[in-house]
Amino acid sequence: MNAINHAATALLINKKWSGVPIVLVLVSVQLIEFLWVALNLFGIEVTTTEPQVRALNDIHLAYMPYSHSVAATAVLALGVWLFFARFLKQPLWGIALAVAVSSHIVLDLATHVRDIALAPGIESPKLGLGLYGVPLLALVVETTYGVGCWWVFRGSRTLLAVIVALNLGALSFYAPMISGPERFFAGRPTLFAAIIGLHITIGLIAVGFFGRSRWR
Ligand SMILES: [Zn+2]
Repeated sequence: MNAINHAATALLINKKWSGVPIVLVLVSVQLIEFLWVALNLFGIEVTTTEPQVRALNDIHLAYMPYSHSVAATAVLALGVWLFFARFLKQPLWGIALAVAVSSHIVLDLATHVRDIALAPGIESPKLGLGLYGVPLLALVVETTYGVGCWWVFRGSRTLLAVIVALNLGALSFYAPMISGPERFFAGRPTLFAAIIGLHITIGLIAVGFFGRSRWR
């Protein structure tokens, strides 16, 4: 899922569990993605590309059982809950942040092609509802989700504009007929991972900054 829409999930978490530091919420909704970036840069997880990249379905998340698997997420969410609820004695933070971490894999399961494993070491079946197999439809569904988060949060018009703009800004990744920066990632999966790291950071900062007047 586009980084801005994962980031928008922080709006839902803040609405439901107000008082949890927003920086922690923002990092938690993308914790798995940060892990993915690091593991790709270290060559532990693997991404491959088609010889030509015209849309995101030409980029394949070939191996990512440690960052993106159901079991790894469950362990990570449990660890986050234990740390905040038990160690720091902040039960509300523990629940909110564990849900924030888990939200990532739920959204990815809803959008990805079948590339999410159940657990490290279990190669099949792989899970994913396959929305990214039809990229333009994915863009519509994702943007609707991001706007829905904004609506529940009752954010400012500027925040809405930022969410819509960052979704539409990725249009060429979702439309094979529109050429854009995605073509530079052909054969360069490590560059792709690094740029995604930047992209998710920008998405989090955008939501954090433009939602700032209404964080509770
Ligand atoms: Zn992800």
